[in-house]
Amino acid sequence: MAQDFYELLGVARDADAGDIKKAYRRKARELHPDVSDEPDAEERFRRVTEAYEVLSDDERRATYDRYGEAGLKQGGWEPQFANFGSISDIFSAFFGEDMFGGRGGTAGAGGRGDDVQVAVALDFREAVLGAERELTFTATGTCDTCDGSGAANPDAVSTCQTCGGAGAVRQVSRSIFGQVVQERICPGCAGRGQVVSDPCLSCSGTGEQPEERSVSVAIPAGIADGQRIRLTGRGGVGQHGGPAGNLYVDVHVAADDRFIREGDDLITVIDLTIAEATLGTLADVPTVDGDPREVEIPAGTQPGTRMVLRGLGSGRLRGSASRDGSLDRGDLVIYCNVRVPRDLAPEQRDVLARFQALEDDRIYRDKEGIFDRLRRMVKP
Ligand SMILES: [Zn+2]
Ligand SMILES: [Zn+2]
Repeated sequence: MAQDFYELLGVARDADAGDIKKAYRRKARELHPDVSDEPDAEERFRRVTEAYEVLSDDERRATYDRYGEAGLKQGGWEPQFANFGSISDIFSAFFGEDMFGGRGGTAGAGGRGDDVQVAVALDFREAVLGAERELTFTATGTCDTCDGSGAANPDAVSTCQTCGGAGAVRQVSRSIFGQVVQERICPGCAGRGQVVSDPCLSCSGTGEQPEERSVSVAIPAGIADGQRIRLTGRGGVGQHGGPAGNLYVDVHVAADDRFIREGDDLITVIDLTIAEATLGTLADVPTVDGDPREVEIPAGTQPGTRMVLRGLGSGRLRGSASRDGSLDRGDLVIYCNVRVPRDLAPEQRDVLARFQALEDDRIYRDKEGIFDRLRRMVKP
């Protein structure tokens, strides 16, 4: 049944190249064997493809207009269809695009946007007390030219005829269990419910373009090196109304030369001279907050003595704001080190020698000796 090529495509005799292309695209999607249940869909597809092959070429079209299909074949024309492996191949050969576009997704919605990863380098204090950081990164954004529709103009968007806009098609098949109804993503529109006959030139119909973004990220107090912050929906935009991807912020925390973190506590060490440890003193203890805190060191403080400043540790990552809005924090743990001098001047040596002559064991009386402390640390 040799049907007229213009009729096959459903275009007028004087249709221009754009109309013919649009018409073929529409037919091709309609007749795809995955979509159409008609047994002759493939044959009909083959025919409209032949029609397009001829009418899209000015010289062939002129020959066809004058001599018909028979005239073309006499002139040596052979449909190219047979050279292609699949209908999708034909489609991409003619339009330079994937027939079904998109990257999948669920019926009725476009695909989820890309996740974006960025790294942030924090100093110790920022990690412990929290910080606000402005992060700049590149993510998939919405095409400015078409505002994400993927179409060159508003008229180039129409409801998908395959699924009637639902984005999904139902397929009924028979099996030994009876009738099986399968719903799947509409191949005519990749689940969008709409088809674009004339794609936007800026984005080639994807509706997307890369964009520079700047996002202010609240770094929670108490975050640790290697942790990751997720900002839901701040990644690349979704395809055709799909959900946006996430922004993942990988946190790197610089070490500090005064503090070690242990959970929510911070540990620091203060150095005392033998005179300070023996006689007692007021010591300046560094805090992560900035200003040092003056701490009374009692006379007879032993090496390894542990002192605690409540609430001067790291912010607690979970539930870090208490009722009055202040930061819930761990403690600052101070260990006392007693430094032993190495290079004494003769006079200093004399003083110590005289002290040595006067000392006796009772001045070192201690409820707990260093060995007891060691045992307590090793075996709690
Ligand atoms: Zn666009
Ligand atoms: Zn559809």
